[in-house]
Amino acid sequence: MVEIKSDTSIEAMREAGRIVAQALAAAREAADVGVRLRDLDGAARAVLEEAGAGSPFLGYRPDWAPVPFPAVLCVSVNDAVVHGIPGDYELRDGDLVSADCGAVLDGWVGDAAVSFTVGRARPQDLRLIGTAQEALDAGIAAAVVGNRIGDIAHAVGRVCRSAGYGIPDGIGGHGVGRTMHEDPGVPNEGRPGRGMPLRHGMVLAIEPMVIAGGHDDTFTARDGWTVRTADGSRASHAEHTVAITDDGPRILTAL
Ligand code: MG
Ligand code: MG
Repeated sequence: MVEIKSDTSIEAMREAGRIVAQALAAAREAADVGVRLRDLDGAARAVLEEAGAGSPFLGYRPDWAPVPFPAVLCVSVNDAVVHGIPGDYELRDGDLVSADCGAVLDGWVGDAAVSFTVGRARPQDLRLIGTAQEALDAGIAAAVVGNRIGDIAHAVGRVCRSAGYGIPDGIGGHGVGRTMHEDPGVPNEGRPGRGMPLRHGMVLAIEPMVIAGGHDDTFTARDGWTVRTADGSRASHAEHTVAITDDGPRILTAL
């Protein structure tokens, strides 16, 4: 069932989303060559604590997960696409980092992700990151009343495929509200004009992921969480929580 949020609820979700943006900015600021991934998580955690927000990631255990997620931030490096656990790995020159964060404030959730490089960036990584961001922008532009879920999916997928990149099978966006994952699903590829009509008050996480090697296959690493590209090529992820309104899409996880 898709929950339609009141304008008051959307304002409350905006506050949760602002904290997510601040936590991601802090994690990105902390990232540098030689810094451990757990220190990025620590930077994000400090922002949540300061704001009095909870984490929808910490302790999260969907039925497929062997252990609860142990952090407030997912940090996925290079061939990791999503759900990376921030541990003792120390960032190296040229690494491509995807950071994904959530916050819960007054019972409302925000969810967003950003990718960036550390040290000297490889041009091909900047192109990959730029494409994920461009796909997110296209998806948001299609998130308007009168369109359908398939219009968002099509907009996202077209940008990714036009650039020659793969789109991970079976992972994508979702509704957001009092819980992190709600209906409807928001695929990263689809047919325009299909799927659920978009209405004022729907709140969606739109989250393109691209695989540089052009294949769509991924696998879950032995830690039970980290999703990696099957071809070993690098991946990038971008995400915002967006409210559909009669005045157009409103990004709730901007700074
Ligand atoms: Mg996310
Ligand atoms: Mg999400």
